[in-house]
Amino acid sequence: MTDTNHARPAALPDRIGGLRPLSENLWWSWQPHAEDLYRELDPFLFASVEENPVLLLRDVAPERLRRAAADPAYLDRYDRVMAEFAALLDTGPGSTWVGRHQPGLAERPVAYFSAEFGVHPTLPIYSGGLGVLAGDHAKAASDLGLPLVGISLLYRQGYLRQRLGHDGWQLDVTPSLEPGAEPTTLVRGDDGEPLCIEVSLDDPNARIRIQIWRVQVGRVSLYLLDTDVEGNPQWTRTVSSRLYGGDQEHRLRQEKILGIGGVRALRAMGIGPVYWHGNEGHAAFHLLERVREWVNEGLDFEEASRRVIASSVFTSHTPVPAGHDVFPPYLMDRYFGFYWPRLGLSREEFLALGRHDASGDGFNMTALSMRLSGFRNGVSARHGEITRSMWHDIWPDIEPPLTPITSITNGVHLPTWISPPMQELLDRHLPADWEQRMQDEDVWEPVLEIPDEEFWAVREQNNRDLLAYLHEYSRRRWSSREIDPRQVVAAGPFLQPQPLTIGFARRFATYKRATLIFSDPDRLARILTNRERPVQLIFAGKAHPADDGGKRFIQEIFWRSLDPRFEGRIAFAEDYDMLLASRLYGGVDVWLNNPRAPLEASGTSGMKAAANGALNLSILDGWWIEGFHASPDAGWGIEPSAELLDDKADKDDAEAIYAALEREVVPLFYDRDDANLPREWIRRSKEAIRALAPRFSSQRMVIEYIDRLYVPASEGGARWIKEPAGAKGD
Ligand SMILES: *Cc1c(COP(=O)(O)O)cnc(C)c1O
Repeated sequence: MTDTNHARPAALPDRIGGLRPLSENLWWSWQPHAEDLYRELDPFLFASVEENPVLLLRDVAPERLRRAAADPAYLDRYDRVMAEFAALLDTGPGSTWVGRHQPGLAERPVAYFSAEFGVHPTLPIYSGGLGVLAGDHAKAASDLGLPLVGISLLYRQGYLRQRLGHDGWQLDVTPSLEPGAEPTTLVRGDDGEPLCIEVSLDDPNARIRIQIWRVQVGRVSLYLLDTDVEGNPQWTRTVSSRLYGGDQEHRLRQEKILGIGGVRALRAMGIGPVYWHGNEGHAAFHLLERVREWVNEGLDFEEASRRVIASSVFTSHTPVPAGHDVFPPYLMDRYFGFYWPRLGLSREEFLALGRHDASGDGFNMTALSMRLSGFRNGVSARHGEITRSMWHDIWPDIEPPLTPITSITNGVHLPTWISPPMQELLDRHLPADWEQRMQDEDVWEPVLEIPDEEFWAVREQNNRDLLAYLHEYSRRRWSSREIDPRQVVAAGPFLQPQPLTIGFARRFATYKRATLIFSDPDRLARILTNRERPVQLIFAGKAHPADDGGKRFIQEIFWRSLDPRFEGRIAFAEDYDMLLASRLYGGVDVWLNNPRAPLEASGTSGMKAAANGALNLSILDGWWIEGFHASPDAGWGIEPSAELLDDKADKDDAEAIYAALEREVVPLFYDRDDANLPREWIRRSKEAIRALAPRFSSQRMVIEYIDRLYVPASEGGARWIKEPAGAKGD
């Protein structure tokens, strides 16, 4: 990675010179017409640089640029995209949702801290759902005109790329980022030098320097902290480089940089948020740093923390106790022993901030966030209940059901996740301003009136696009000479456009039970290989590098896919990332999800599939409890087994899924009329879009955050609007 301001590739003709600034604002990625401007320049190159316009502009032949700059049709589209891009950056207060509905929030930003952001595959600083959710949150904030600044780390090595070995075992490959491949810009001070802030890790006398990269996501800026700065001791230069690689101490260092460095970076850049949002516990130290600033101004801990609490929002995402960061006291001593005196606290008082019944004497980052944030939520109604029951011990004087934690159900950024052909179809049938009002349920009513033929043609197109994408991926892997014919077979060469296609893709955590559908292989084989009504299954997902249980699941699917009795109708698609994900959500007929309830906090992939017209076949857990009740026609809800023993629950849940497939899903899909259209299936597919897209959009989600949490938090923050001077010393 280099500073894109400097590594300038070949010159662009002036007439289309705007392609460069556009490539550096990820806004292009959720504007199909903007993306097409790059793709059209050289479709094969665009695919081979994994849809990264920064690289495309570096490598494209000058001849193609000249041709485009002389093509009136291209220029016409170019001018329209550039006009929209200019309008985005230059909006009056009345032109956005926030300007019209919450003008008070338009003035000063919210700081949104997240250890990951999944904005676009070319910026691999996400591992899965949490990061993609943060990216969708930022995009919706941009769309709505909410001033938000994101804070995260720049993981130069990103998250692992997944390869399967010859035996189907997951190999964790460190991605090699091409220098200059990301749309990042180094933040510089007035003197033109890189702006650096300082944080001490375990030694108060040894501060390390951190530089800051900016990424533009529409109107929103993300700032990514980077410890790989010349002059820093070697061991600190890699602290920010890997996402979730390394041990607990590495993790603590990262979180110290994210939380404490994040606050200092905002101060150094002169950005003064009024209220703050911590996405999951990883960023909790930002709360301490803000308390420290006030204490440094002369307040005592109690008054200082009162101010921080009044202006802080915290979202918890995980109902699995092991999913919360807990650090042992000896590490807290090492990294914070010189810090808590600056909060005016004793060791005991400090450690008590991170105490939680279930964590022993460890320092729990979620507990810290709960205590120092006045506005707290889980991410679905069910998860809200679970979160209240997990954390009520923090408020010993409050009855457990009254634990002050609410819920705001997750949502997804529809322009990112609805396939371009489906968006074009919606453009033709929805009100012209539907993209400004995606959260309104009324806007979606006309979906039901789309002619079946037209609707089904788009669904089939998406399915063919998915298969073409998988085949092209295999071709490239094959031509790399790294894979053998069995690996090619596992990647799905025999998938066909006609059969009912079921998708299953997520992180391979064992509680998500990816192999549940293989509980009775003979029964599954009968379902898949029926002569008149065939079914095919596509799997994807990465296991955490340290999770051998998850890797065994992947290996099992690999072996199953090679078993001839399934007749080539099972595939495992390597390297699940946002690029593959968007093809999958658009191209499958059924989205399968069978977690062990109640361990799915929300889940968002099913929302993305539904917004494209896929029907969900899922255990009633997380978001699907709400989705299925909002619209029972949008899929099938499997009541989770009440069994406490995992084996028995697995057996029950698998039985229920087979029964639904055999009796309902497959017959409905193959119930065709003379025109070979599955009329009832199409009706339900449209209903899934109509009912679920607005309700589970990130626009609805961010508006709910605004109305219920951001407004009160900003009022809390505005009472002490005088921001403390950015104190540099620890
Ligand atoms: C949406 C998404 C996820 C999260 O899906 P879940 O249903 O929450 O597991 C993970 N990875 C990618 C690439 C995604 O786009």
